[in-house]
Amino acid sequence: MNAFPHLLEPLDLGHLTLPNRVVMGSMHTGLEDRARDFPKLAAFFAERARGGAALIVTGGFAPNIEGTLMPLASKLTTRREARRHRVITDAVHAEGGRVALQLLHAGRYAYTPWCVAPSAIKSPISKFRPRALSARGVERTIAAFVRSARLARKAGYDGVEVMGSEGYLINQFLAPRTNHRTDAWGGTPEKRRRFAVEVVRRIREEVGPDFLVIYRISAVDLVPDGQTWDEVAALAREVEAAGASVLNLGIGWHEARVPTIVTSVPRAAFASYAGRLKAETSLPVIATNRINMPEVAEGILGAGDADLVSLARPFLADPEWVRKTAESRVDEINTCIACNQACLDHTFRKQRATCLLNPRAVYETELVLGPTRSARKVAVVGAGPAGLACATALAERGHSVDLFEARDDIGGQFAIAQRIPGKEEFSESIRYFRRRLELTGVRLHLGQAVTAGELREGGFDDVVVATGVEPRVPAIPGVDHPSVMTYAELVRGEREPGARVAVIGAGGIGVDVSEFLTAQPSATLDLDLWRAEWGVGDPAESRGGLTKPRVETAKHEVVLLQRKASGIGKGLGKTTGWVHRASLKAKGVEQVTGVSYDLIDDDGLHVSFAPEGGGDGPRTTRVIPVDSVVLCAGQESVRTLADELAGSGLPVHVIGGADVAAELDAKRAIRQGTELAARL
Ligand code: FAD
Ligand code: NAP
Ligand code: SF4
Repeated sequence: MNAFPHLLEPLDLGHLTLPNRVVMGSMHTGLEDRARDFPKLAAFFAERARGGAALIVTGGFAPNIEGTLMPLASKLTTRREARRHRVITDAVHAEGGRVALQLLHAGRYAYTPWCVAPSAIKSPISKFRPRALSARGVERTIAAFVRSARLARKAGYDGVEVMGSEGYLINQFLAPRTNHRTDAWGGTPEKRRRFAVEVVRRIREEVGPDFLVIYRISAVDLVPDGQTWDEVAALAREVEAAGASVLNLGIGWHEARVPTIVTSVPRAAFASYAGRLKAETSLPVIATNRINMPEVAEGILGAGDADLVSLARPFLADPEWVRKTAESRVDEINTCIACNQACLDHTFRKQRATCLLNPRAVYETELVLGPTRSARKVAVVGAGPAGLACATALAERGHSVDLFEARDDIGGQFAIAQRIPGKEEFSESIRYFRRRLELTGVRLHLGQAVTAGELREGGFDDVVVATGVEPRVPAIPGVDHPSVMTYAELVRGEREPGARVAVIGAGGIGVDVSEFLTAQPSATLDLDLWRAEWGVGDPAESRGGLTKPRVETAKHEVVLLQRKASGIGKGLGKTTGWVHRASLKAKGVEQVTGVSYDLIDDDGLHVSFAPEGGGDGPRTTRVIPVDSVVLCAGQESVRTLADELAGSGLPVHVIGGADVAAELDAKRAIRQGTELAARL
């Protein structure tokens, strides 16, 4: 028997039966906005349907222009638009899948000057003040939802998901934070719920019984003046009576200051809300957020907390998530590490979403890794993310691959990253690559710092140099003082820091190292501790489910420094940077900018600052009395091998950090490795 009986059990929804309990949740990929991109979107969905997703929910489509997320963004308002969706629905159905269209009215989150909301209250994350909908405007908006649902049905969708969470329009009607109306659509909890309930009721009337109407319910708003639990529970009952088929959970508004999906959020952190909702209705309930591995999903379903699980980003990382689970190949799953770097951070930059670990995601028709017609013998040097991605993709294409790694294990800098509290998920990527190396037949040579001579004599047709980076040691007087160590030495446990630590360099690694020095290692793994740290309470006790955060004492006293005068962490991702900044503040990390490093000696780190307003005046100096200094001052490419092989006659390809160290991250390393493998 398979280890995931609940996950793989079919679910009868009346007019249709889902083959298993895994829903691919809605994601905006950036291909929704223009119909000419729909064939690519169709290929993306089709691959996930083929991989076993029981039901796919599309990215959000607005029911009218006022509801679009930005000018010219996705909407479904006309029959002409609906016809263009056929390519999507046909592609999913051809693979035996099912697909529902998400109806999303952005309300005050619309990045347009013509945005509307229940009341004219600006959101803290938007620059546009919405216009309050008139009573007629409310009716017109409901009619627009109904029209879009009708069109979705015509376009061949199996259902719609009504987006009622995450702080979008419907959610704005539900919460006193954003609904100050005193007419029939606000003033009391019942009247605030009326908009949501009417949307569902009238959609059901329009589409008839044999069409899915999923309602995405905000189980906990995580904002001040959000809903109470009683209000959420009453809403669940009312949308059930109005004709919803399934309840899908939403957690937290976009403006919430509690992280809900980043990697430091414990797995399944919000699944218990699904269980509480199940007790309120007889509808099937979908649990969401930070469910990335089958055992987590099975645990939720087995405990009776939910009937289905929704995974969104995990389907970017691995389209075959369900099939691998069903075939007991869980160790082959490319696990989403919840980094947001290539998905949500791209979306916020108006770039097409993809996945750090799987650069083929949303590029299915463009980055093709077909079998090679002329197999070559390739040496890949360096088993960091770039080398691992390249070696495995080359071998999958039929090349004969030797992978050389100087250390005694694979992972490169990523193996350091996995030791940072809150980045424990990164170990899953190393596990994934380890297994993929076995499956693809790559010959792995650990502990072998291969030389140019060995490569020249090895009979290789090509050499891929993926030797990565090493920490930069800046030319600061006293940098060879015994108190100084690199981030690699610290995090690998090769050196012990003292009680007071200065961190030189406040890029991604400096921030991570500060977390390493201050965080309690168990916080991502201990849900109660994490909840306490972020002030996640119970909506039955306080509106929106917020309480006062309680921060554990930091392990070390940390001063984080950079030479730039700009704010620390500015270069971090949009969706994760604020979490790191809030965390450092809460842990009391002192942040010092605009410094020059003058000396490191027994007294600590000597720094100086330019005189205020510039000019030639005397510099201000400060001695920071620390026991240890950790260097996080960027990195240098390891290029010796590439240089030695130049002119050898061997085709040499340099990728990842060995190619360019500046602004290197695993996303670029893996993409470069995969793209090279597709070309060779
Ligand atoms: P590397 O990871 O440096 O790998 C190179 C490999 O080559 C090493 O294993 C090395 O031992 C080997 N090698 C070198 N010379 C030889 C030789 N002659 N013979 C054989 N083997 C050799 N990136 C992100 O995208 N997101 C993050 O959140 C993130 N967090 C990070 C946190 C920390 C603390 C650190 C240290 C890094 C983090 N990174 C993150 C950066 C990411 O890990 C790197 O960008 C990535 O590992 C670079 O990949 P690479 O393969 O080019 O090089
Ligand atoms: P980085 O982001 O380039 O930061 C390097 C830091 O060192 C900067 O603060 C820089 O600031 C300082 N610095 C540079 N040269 C210096 C010198 N000679 N002397 C003193 N200080 C110097 O690089 P990183 O922190 O090493 O990170 C490497 C890569 O890993 C990054 O590109 C990042 O994308 C990736 N990463 C990502 C994450 C993530 O969460 N997404 C996390 C960790 C790492 P000043 O010049 O102002 O002093
Ligand atoms: Fe998951 Fe990161 Fe890939 Fe996004 S980019 S799907 S968060 S692994």
